[in-house]
Amino acid sequence: MVIEEKDLLKSKLKEVFGYNQFRGNQEAIINNILNGRNTFVIMPTGAGKSLCYQLPALVTDGLAIVISPLIALMKNQVDQLNAFGVNAQFLNSTLTKAEMNRVKKETLDGSIKLLYVAPESLTKEENIDFLKKANVSFVAVDEAHCISEWGHDFRPEYRRIKEIIGLLGNLPIIALTATATPKVQLDIQKNLHMEGADVFKSSFNRTNLFYEVRQKKHAKKQLIQFLRDHKGKSGIVYCLSRKKVVEIAELLNVNGFKAAPYHAGLEPAVREKNQDDFLNEDVDIVVATIAFGMGIDKPDVRFVVHYDVPKSLEGYYQETGRSGRDGLEGKCLMFYSHNDINKLEKFNKDKPVQERENARVLLQEMSFYAESPVCRRKQLLHYFGEEFTFDNCEMCDNCVVPKDKYEAKEYAKLAVEAALKTGERFGLNHLVDVIRGVENQYVKSYDHHILDIYGNGNEESGDFWKSVVRQSLIYELLEKDIDNIGVLKVSAKGREFLNNPYSISFAKDHEYTDTGDEEESS
Ligand code: ADP
Ligand code: ZN
Repeated sequence: MVIEEKDLLKSKLKEVFGYNQFRGNQEAIINNILNGRNTFVIMPTGAGKSLCYQLPALVTDGLAIVISPLIALMKNQVDQLNAFGVNAQFLNSTLTKAEMNRVKKETLDGSIKLLYVAPESLTKEENIDFLKKANVSFVAVDEAHCISEWGHDFRPEYRRIKEIIGLLGNLPIIALTATATPKVQLDIQKNLHMEGADVFKSSFNRTNLFYEVRQKKHAKKQLIQFLRDHKGKSGIVYCLSRKKVVEIAELLNVNGFKAAPYHAGLEPAVREKNQDDFLNEDVDIVVATIAFGMGIDKPDVRFVVHYDVPKSLEGYYQETGRSGRDGLEGKCLMFYSHNDINKLEKFNKDKPVQERENARVLLQEMSFYAESPVCRRKQLLHYFGEEFTFDNCEMCDNCVVPKDKYEAKEYAKLAVEAALKTGERFGLNHLVDVIRGVENQYVKSYDHHILDIYGNGNEESGDFWKSVVRQSLIYELLEKDIDNIGVLKVSAKGREFLNNPYSISFAKDHEYTDTGDEEESS
């Protein structure tokens, strides 16, 4: 029986999708959902998540509901499945009445195998009523990080998904995402009531990508210099605003590059043409806002430049992940300045308090990343809850040109002690204040000024100590409290270290000076 099923999956894989083999965890994931188990899939972009729900949908009775946040993405997948001869349809606000009726009819008569639904359509009463009558096999929640306000792409409608699924019956759920920090992962599971789900997490290490951060000084000149070194290769330049996208695309064309702009404000026809030109290699470079990229599958993108600082490490990882999908060279260059961070903070000014606070924390992680001397790869993987054990990845600026190291045993000890002796309930700034002996009302109100370690680090600057605490975190002497954002706790490794301190080397952070002329034209 098991063998038969295995053959069935393999033959469907070949027959419908034309592939000979499953990739990574695909087969185990598919079997898991087919066994009616809640399934949580965390896989980097391009690894093949869609197949994990498309294939099981084809071999079970009834139809699978796929919840997906982007109409364009939905349409791509439906078109592709239809081309493979699979009856897939979508339900969203772009359908006419007649189309809507056809989808409803085919849902009820059982001919549709996959029904893609936008979350805001899912929550409409009339849709719930007719979906109740359908024979649903399971529900796939794609881009599941949208559930979490701690993700980079929060969609409030995602919060109601579980409630609605509950109305349709006791259905197994497969949730999928390409980025989930441990915090976001927990959020997703809680929200979908699937704490007991089987989790399939693939490594996020993209070994062929080279990560680099440069101080943004004369940004346009720096960009052109970089592009001259990569002339004729395909690449993406991300900018923060639509205006900047247009300006930089023009600048590049004037300087002899074949570049096209892409942002959500362009006419759909123009947008589509520019995207096609890039895919067909009529232009080498797309200058884009983050609207560009989701669902784009060009294997030989050789570089991704962030002209402006991105809003979160999750977004950054996602965007850089579009380079080197074929496993060959992929350069990821970010221009960084304090000025950009300040600008982004200003954008958040009018948001509701909680949202603003979340955005601030995400942005802070971003600047830690840029300023840190630690291997970029180690940092990125750490951010996604994965340990990278090598000391030198040889594929990032911090590894290729390492900063001078210093013996940090005593410093790290003090950092870990500070967390321990304050009860593992405080964040970076407070720990640094205690270590440096800063007298403020928080320190006093908790009586932390009477601790024996208070002020023991008063000879070094606040920035120095912040760097020490962050490196203690990356080297896992400290860990983040998953339930309380910003709170640092002592890890098992950290306790061991306190009992038996050993030599450990840290480096000083990069220093980015404010130059004031980062936008100077070339
Ligand atoms: P993700 O959603 O994880 O970003 P996709 O589902 O879009 O990734 O898949 C990325 C690419 O890999 C697609 O072109 C897809 O057709 C291809 N793919 C998926 N599974 C396989 C497989 N088993 N063998 C070969 N190609 C695959
Ligand atoms: Zn490295």
